[in-house]
Amino acid sequence: MSFTAESLYVLHRLRPKASLQRFVITAVTGLMAIACGTEPTPPTSSDSTPETSSGPKIVTTFLPVHLFTKAVVGDTGQVDILISPGAEVHDYQATPDDAKLLAQADVLVENGLGMEAFLSDLVANAGNSELQQIDASEGIEAMEGEHGHDEHKHDEHGHDEHKHDEHGHGHHHPEGNPHVWLDPVLAQQQVANIRDRLIEIDPSNADSYRSNAQAYIEQLQQLDNEFKEKLAPVQGCNFITFHDAFPYLAQRYGLEQEAIVEIPEESMTPQDIQRIKQITEEHSVKALLTEPGIEDKRIEQISSDLNLSLEAINPLEAGETDPQYYFQVMRSNLEALSRACQNN
Ligand SMILES: [Zn+2]
Repeated sequence: MSFTAESLYVLHRLRPKASLQRFVITAVTGLMAIACGTEPTPPTSSDSTPETSSGPKIVTTFLPVHLFTKAVVGDTGQVDILISPGAEVHDYQATPDDAKLLAQADVLVENGLGMEAFLSDLVANAGNSELQQIDASEGIEAMEGEHGHDEHKHDEHGHDEHKHDEHGHGHHHPEGNPHVWLDPVLAQQQVANIRDRLIEIDPSNADSYRSNAQAYIEQLQQLDNEFKEKLAPVQGCNFITFHDAFPYLAQRYGLEQEAIVEIPEESMTPQDIQRIKQITEEHSVKALLTEPGIEDKRIEQISSDLNLSLEAINPLEAGETDPQYYFQVMRSNLEALSRACQNN
């Protein structure tokens, strides 16, 4: 059995790179008009009509923080996204066109906690001294990454020069695990952070930011209640995910997450498989939660070798750009978790 890096590498790197050029062009001319094309809601958002909006020109980094920012901004301003909603975010490489987008923006919203390692260089390159930055995770205490970040991927692929400089080889991201958006309670804090900073930056639209945020936070509270209720009977359940995206959600609802790999680009090692085998035996785990884009034969191999059923869970790192997409995916995640745990 050989667990080489190549096929995962191809899955996660080629797709975003191929679409990057097209994305940047459309981003400048109204990305959202295209990205929202399949959404059920009518195009009332001001994304494609910046001339009618009164608010600041906002750029977000990647999907979850984009959804939360759009929820707060509503029709008040233009919200663009830096990393195409179909691209892999963990190992993103910024381009000169990204710097152009930031050069024209008023506000940049990031998830923070080390998720956007490329950002500080990019902001420096953009040379926009007026740019206001919002860290959506301000005040959130990060959990440690489970198995240590970065050891394999940089060494194997060797073209992440600018990231190495910041974080060094073989260390944890000092900020810890960044996947806080997958906890409906921490998501509320992210929305509130975005709201509060937008009010500071653009007080003229404070009322609108406040009421939009309130409506979204109420939906997140409702979602939290659904998670609590549905997962109460399966407290202590161990579930296995592909990458280490759900420790916050697990902790919130009294479950235990074990991930096969730290980030999606990382290759599975025989040690990883051994560790998963051990956990499935110790805790009589019955299901493996895979994620979109991981149509890897080795996942199927593990699931059949270890006699685990496959369920799909979505870390929301890519997908649709309607703020309601968050709830759609999280409810489907809840169903998958519940099924996986009931089998335990
Ligand atoms: Zn992730």
